[in-house]
Amino acid sequence: MAFWGQKQEPENEQVQQPASQQSLDENHQNLIKTKGRTPSIDLAIKLSDLILEHAVKERASDVHIEGQGANLRVRFRIDGILQDMLNAPRNAELPLTQRIRVLAGFDPEPPTSFRTEEGRFQKIIAGRPIQVRVSSFPTVNGEKLVLRVLDRQQLGLDLEQLGMDESNLSIIKKMIRNPYGIFFITGATGSGKTTTLYAILKNINTPMINVITLEDPVEYRLEGINQAQISAKTGFTWAEGLRTILRQDPDVIMVGEIRDYESAEISLRSALTGHLLFTTIHTINAPSIIERLFEMGVPPFLIASSMLGAVSQRLVRKVCRNCAQKAAPPSEVVVNEFIKNMDPIEGKVVKELILEANANYMVEKGCPACRNTGYVGRTGIFELMLMNEDIRKQVLEHSPTDVLRRTAIQAGKMKTILMDGIMKARSGVTTLSEVIRVTATLV
Ligand SMILES: [Zn+2]
Repeated sequence: MAFWGQKQEPENEQVQQPASQQSLDENHQNLIKTKGRTPSIDLAIKLSDLILEHAVKERASDVHIEGQGANLRVRFRIDGILQDMLNAPRNAELPLTQRIRVLAGFDPEPPTSFRTEEGRFQKIIAGRPIQVRVSSFPTVNGEKLVLRVLDRQQLGLDLEQLGMDESNLSIIKKMIRNPYGIFFITGATGSGKTTTLYAILKNINTPMINVITLEDPVEYRLEGINQAQISAKTGFTWAEGLRTILRQDPDVIMVGEIRDYESAEISLRSALTGHLLFTTIHTINAPSIIERLFEMGVPPFLIASSMLGAVSQRLVRKVCRNCAQKAAPPSEVVVNEFIKNMDPIEGKVVKELILEANANYMVEKGCPACRNTGYVGRTGIFELMLMNEDIRKQVLEHSPTDVLRRTAIQAGKMKTILMDGIMKARSGVTTLSEVIRVTATLV
């Protein structure tokens, strides 16, 4: 049996593929062939480089390095889903995790008492600078490292690249040119909120305006924009940061997140006094942002007079162009079952949208190009709610989310996140099952 827990290489080797086309596993096998199998720092450096190169090549957002029984397991999160990439014997773990600990600025040895650690480093990988954020966590199986890979090239900081349809795109471009007001972005962790915020800032930034951000943490450095990082340790909180920013003569302010009355109140008031603000808030959809602000104690008149609108978003995987197959629309029985718990008006729109003629539905299959997942890359699905007279009236009446939502759909012609997802499935960008997977918690 092979020492590394992998099957033996065949005796008569085939012509080797170039390194860039080989899997992490194959490259790892070649590495131990030239370097020997004794765990050493030299091997660990090469192996960590190999893992990072593959992570960038495979567009992984996170790399998990963890002990699993006798094995060291390396997994990549690609398009939001974790995938096994490498299993090596456990005794390779020590030098490898030490190497990454040193890169991240930690002590080489993991702490003996329970303590989580965070660090970061930058490295030239695949010819460009890649930032890596490292988090260490002590488990009963030993240390678990998670590396967040921040690749600007993958980020696509243009509004046009986010996946908005033309109507949403033109509305948002017009709205972010308002001289003052506040605009909210909501969505689960990893739904692309930060990317959308950065794309908006990049779109409106010119040397003639002063753009300041308050973030926790600053994820990417943006050119020409003043970015500041929240630090609870030094008392630089959201509220304190906002007060400081307002003395810096800003035109546009981005507040990473609003989570309490104090920061909500300062944000909405400054939106009334000539500043344009963008922020995120944790809610399930766009209309429920208003109820969340009510819960924080923000008075309805302040919301009604300062809010420009809100967008809620999720990311869906794009179906692999190489192997996807055409699919028939679902039967009416299936659709009826799917919409039975929805608001009747919304359900009707959803049903018509799914069953309308001329759809180009696809179903995922799987091939080497997509690592047999059926999907490559991701795109956003959006729900854009604009403040208008009807919604303003509901806000002033302190209406609950379901009333606001119905008003936005009926009077404001708001397309929900599910409807936008169905449109993307209809055009063959993604599949209906993927849209339902991603929006399942919304209906
Ligand atoms: Zn494929």
